[in-house]
Amino acid sequence: MEPGKILEIAEMGNPVLRERAREVEDIHDPGVQNFIDDLIATGISANGVGIAAPQVDVPKRIFIISSRPNIRYPDAPLMEPEAVINPEIISCSDEMVKDWEGCLSIPGLRGLVPRHTSVRVKYVSRDGRVEERQFTDFIARIFQHEYDHLNGVLFLDRIESNRDIITDREYMKLLRRESE
Ligand code: ZN
Repeated sequence: MEPGKILEIAEMGNPVLRERAREVEDIHDPGVQNFIDDLIATGISANGVGIAAPQVDVPKRIFIISSRPNIRYPDAPLMEPEAVINPEIISCSDEMVKDWEGCLSIPGLRGLVPRHTSVRVKYVSRDGRVEERQFTDFIARIFQHEYDHLNGVLFLDRIESNRDIITDREYMKLLRRESE
């Protein structure tokens, strides 16, 4: 895999984050494949556990899940970065749970966001295979967060109360207290 280049991240206020992204028609197009490498490199360099194409000003239905423990998410499970193209959520659990999320496009803030604990999903991988998978817990949460980006939805839209929003600094203090 070619190492990708680092792209500029669009932040809240940029209209691209509020659009519905368009389906990818030719996954094998070298431009699309190179873009996926760039998106992976950009997400990793920003310590993200996921990143969606609209976050780098490209309104296409592509996102990356790249969970790994890092300074922003010390307890994240480790996985190879995976490209998710033209995803659909087929079904989701009735059970929902609130947990902390951040977003590379909303620097400095964290929020307690209610999400389904598991989702059954369908998408196309970067080599053009149709995947049908079940994700639970943290990966299900990333999937729902990134999927929202393709529809112009940000995590702050899903928060139940302003009291569930805190700053990154206070979040880091909270983590330290929890690990004591
Ligand atoms: Zn985000």
